[in-house]
Amino acid sequence: MCFGATSYLGVTLGGLIYLDEPWDATVDGDRELMAHELVHTRQYRRFVYGTGFACAYGIGFVQSGFDYAANPLEDEAFDFVTVNAASICGRGHLHACRSAPEADPGTFRPT
Ligand SMILES: [Zn+2]
Repeated sequence: MCFGATSYLGVTLGGLIYLDEPWDATVDGDRELMAHELVHTRQYRRFVYGTGFACAYGIGFVQSGFDYAANPLEDEAFDFVTVNAASICGRGHLHACRSAPEADPGTFRPT
Protein backbone atom coordinates (compact mmCIF):
# COMPACT_ATOMS: atom_id res chain seq x y z
CA MET A 1 0.00 0.00 0.00
CA CYS A 2 1.45 3.38 -0.93
CA PHE A 3 0.61 6.93 -0.02
CA GLY A 4 2.73 9.23 -2.11
CA ALA A 5 6.28 7.97 -2.13
CA THR A 6 5.91 6.09 1.14
CA SER A 7 4.84 2.50 1.49
CA TYR A 8 3.09 1.03 4.50
CA LEU A 9 2.58 -2.45 5.82
CA GLY A 10 -0.54 -1.48 7.67
CA VAL A 11 -3.03 1.36 7.87
CA THR A 12 -5.79 1.79 10.42
CA LEU A 13 -8.96 3.71 9.62
CA GLY A 14 -11.32 3.76 12.56
CA GLY A 15 -11.88 0.17 13.55
CA LEU A 16 -10.56 -1.25 10.28
CA ILE A 17 -6.98 -2.38 9.86
CA TYR A 18 -5.69 -2.73 6.33
CA LEU A 19 -2.57 -4.81 5.85
CA ASP A 20 -0.45 -4.83 2.72
CA GLU A 21 0.31 -8.54 3.05
CA PRO A 22 -1.61 -11.48 4.48
CA TRP A 23 -1.29 -11.58 8.26
CA ASP A 24 0.31 -14.62 9.86
CA ALA A 25 -0.15 -15.04 13.62
CA THR A 26 2.92 -17.29 13.77
CA VAL A 27 5.24 -14.49 12.59
CA ASP A 28 6.59 -12.18 15.31
CA GLY A 29 6.72 -9.17 12.99
CA ASP A 30 3.10 -9.67 11.97
CA ARG A 31 2.00 -9.81 15.62
CA GLU A 32 3.98 -6.63 16.32
CA LEU A 33 2.34 -4.94 13.34
CA MET A 34 -1.13 -5.98 14.53
CA ALA A 35 -0.41 -4.77 18.07
CA HIS A 36 0.76 -1.43 16.66
CA GLU A 37 -2.35 -1.06 14.53
CA LEU A 38 -4.64 -2.06 17.42
CA VAL A 39 -3.21 0.86 19.40
CA HIS A 40 -4.41 3.12 16.58
CA THR A 41 -7.93 1.67 16.82
CA ARG A 42 -7.89 2.59 20.51
CA GLN A 43 -6.66 6.10 19.57
CA TYR A 44 -9.54 6.48 17.10
CA ARG A 45 -12.00 5.73 19.90
CA ARG A 46 -10.22 8.18 22.20
CA PHE A 47 -10.55 10.96 19.63
CA VAL A 48 -14.14 9.99 18.77
CA TYR A 49 -13.14 8.46 15.45
CA GLY A 50 -12.03 9.92 12.15
CA THR A 51 -12.04 13.67 12.38
CA GLY A 52 -10.60 13.93 15.87
CA PHE A 53 -7.96 11.32 15.17
CA ALA A 54 -7.01 12.92 11.83
CA CYS A 55 -6.63 16.31 13.49
CA ALA A 56 -4.55 14.92 16.35
CA TYR A 57 -2.42 12.88 13.97
CA GLY A 58 -1.87 15.86 11.64
CA ILE A 59 -1.01 18.21 14.50
CA GLY A 60 1.40 15.63 15.91
CA PHE A 61 2.98 15.15 12.53
CA VAL A 62 3.60 18.89 12.13
CA GLN A 63 4.81 19.31 15.71
CA SER A 64 7.24 16.43 15.25
CA GLY A 65 8.77 18.14 12.22
CA PHE A 66 7.11 15.62 9.86
CA ASP A 67 9.05 12.82 11.52
CA TYR A 68 6.78 9.76 11.28
CA ALA A 69 8.21 7.96 14.31
CA ALA A 70 8.20 11.10 16.46
CA ASN A 71 4.47 11.72 15.96
CA PRO A 72 3.02 11.30 19.47
CA LEU A 73 0.37 8.85 18.23
CA GLU A 74 3.02 6.74 16.52
CA ASP A 75 5.23 7.05 19.58
CA GLU A 76 2.40 5.65 21.70
CA ALA A 77 1.92 2.70 19.31
CA PHE A 78 5.65 1.95 19.15
CA ASP A 79 5.91 2.23 22.93
CA PHE A 80 3.06 -0.24 23.39
CA VAL A 81 4.82 -2.77 21.16
CA THR A 82 8.13 -2.20 22.93
CA VAL A 83 6.70 -2.50 26.44
CA ASN A 84 4.69 -5.60 25.51
CA ALA A 85 7.27 -7.25 23.26
CA ALA A 86 7.60 -10.28 25.50
CA SER A 87 3.87 -10.93 25.36
CA ILE A 88 3.53 -10.13 21.67
CA CYS A 89 6.48 -12.17 20.49
CA GLY A 90 6.56 -14.69 23.28
CA ARG A 91 10.31 -14.52 23.57
CA GLY A 92 10.85 -10.86 24.31
CA HIS A 93 12.41 -10.27 20.93
CA LEU A 94 11.39 -7.12 19.15
CA HIS A 95 11.65 -6.93 15.37
CA ALA A 96 10.17 -3.51 14.84
CA CYS A 97 12.10 -0.39 15.75
CA ARG A 98 11.66 3.29 15.31
CA SER A 99 14.72 3.74 13.15
CA ALA A 100 13.82 1.09 10.59
CA PRO A 101 11.32 3.21 8.63
CA GLU A 102 13.83 6.01 8.24
CA ALA A 103 16.66 3.67 7.30
CA ASP A 104 14.65 1.64 4.81
CA PRO A 105 11.12 2.63 3.82
CA GLY A 106 10.56 -0.91 2.63
CA THR A 107 10.86 -2.37 6.11
CA PHE A 108 8.36 -2.30 8.96
CA ARG A 109 6.33 0.82 8.58
CA PRO A 110 2.95 0.71 10.21
CA THR A 111 0.91 3.83 10.35
ZN1 LIG B 1 1.31 3.67 13.41
